[in-house]
Amino acid sequence: MSDTATTPTNATFDQFGLHGDILKAIAEQGYTTPTPIQAQAIPVVLGGRDVMGAAQTGTGKTASFSLPIIQRLLPLANTSASPARHPVRALILTPTRELADQVAANVQSYAKHTALRSTVVFGGVDMNPQSAELRRGVEILIATPGRLLDHVQQKTANLGQVQLLVLDEADRMLDMGFLPDLQRILNLLPSERQTLLFSATFSPEIKKLASTYLRNPQTIEVARSNSTATNVTQIVYEVAEGDKTGAVVQLIRERSLKQVIVFCNSKIGASRLARQLERDGVVATAIHGDRSQNERMQALDAFKRGEIEALVATDVAARGLDIAELPAVINFDLPFNAEDYVHRIGRTGRAGASGDALSLFSPNERKQLADIEKLIKRPLEVQRLTVDTPVRHHHDERGSRRERDDRGGSRRRTTGAHERPSHGSHHRQQPIDDFFLKPYEPSPSSAAKREEAPAAPQKPASKQPLAALLGGFGMPRKTTTSN
Ligand code: AMP
Repeated sequence: MSDTATTPTNATFDQFGLHGDILKAIAEQGYTTPTPIQAQAIPVVLGGRDVMGAAQTGTGKTASFSLPIIQRLLPLANTSASPARHPVRALILTPTRELADQVAANVQSYAKHTALRSTVVFGGVDMNPQSAELRRGVEILIATPGRLLDHVQQKTANLGQVQLLVLDEADRMLDMGFLPDLQRILNLLPSERQTLLFSATFSPEIKKLASTYLRNPQTIEVARSNSTATNVTQIVYEVAEGDKTGAVVQLIRERSLKQVIVFCNSKIGASRLARQLERDGVVATAIHGDRSQNERMQALDAFKRGEIEALVATDVAARGLDIAELPAVINFDLPFNAEDYVHRIGRTGRAGASGDALSLFSPNERKQLADIEKLIKRPLEVQRLTVDTPVRHHHDERGSRRERDDRGGSRRRTTGAHERPSHGSHHRQQPIDDFFLKPYEPSPSSAAKREEAPAAPQKPASKQPLAALLGGFGMPRKTTTSN
């Protein structure tokens, strides 16, 4: 059985009884007030209880588990050089390398005035430096599941003394086919432990995972399950498919967006759009699984420094990107998986800031739009957008409008929310990239073959479509046979 916490009001970090070294680090981060998830979760985690937290990235959930974990481990902090004095005591599992890296950076900054050690391991990079860190001993280990199992196999990671486990973005881990890896890892952990599960949504599968591995968890929800952040203004613009690039340029220019993530459904589409935006004078770069880990990190850093205006990303590559106060995200394509919409727009309106989620919607995406509205339980306003920005297409550098003309006319005006076309359903012809159905691919340099590319029994192909996990009302994922 679980119960649900109530939201405390006017909380301050001082009231949790956190150690001065932690409070100092919090102050250095510039945090003055706990976010709702922090106000609710910190006391519960400090009290030793399991937690099932419904919170998206952007709500401050990382600190909500990291701060009390550091506090609970502080009595064991020591400066001994002996690795035996620094066993892994807290394990934080995340679905992607980027999220692992970001959580690790947060943990490091919150624990910097303590003697606790932390490190991060993820696939796609050389294992040796990670092994060296692990051999030195760390109390807090942040990891993606596949690479962690590689370290366990190589005996560089021992999980026998883990007393705190965090499953971060658990819904995404299941979606990426990590359940078998998670089960293997969970079986290596002491049964006497505290487990914290965070998920943007509570699907039946997540509830099942929680009932199997959590003990009497307290449910903490800062937003209704499957809801979208209220401080995000969501606007859907109907445009013809061929006008979408022009629409992106126009939205960036009209709204003077200096930092925007543009989501595409395929890595090919992301690369193409980044090139087209560049040609139209928008400083853009694409991040997706074909780019090396280093390239993606560099792109992300440049974006954070404000050197890149538009980061064009696929869902998997963008997962968990920690970019504070991003003013807007643009959905170039509506995602095939409605839950991705919730994750995408979670990149904006973070930690109390307001943001805009702008979605381009072409007539053949009505099914996706309906799925999203069903998931978030409210209709989305569809607005008119007249696309004026000339777009030079790759095949026609002179700026011809051939592509849009091919699609039935010149500039297309959008229809109002109640005037959506109701003629026969159009199925999307564009093939879905199998990239979406599998986790990151390891780089050839990786010693680990398995990292984030689950072995045969774990193939996403064999798992249920996410729609089914959400109650069967979503769109079937037609490419589940690929990969
Ligand atoms: P998260 O949801 O953990 O990814 O956090 C989202 C962003 O909010 C990160 O950039 C954090 O540094 C920031 N953040 C976390 N807690 C607070 C807080 N109490 N006050 C202000 N910013 C915060």
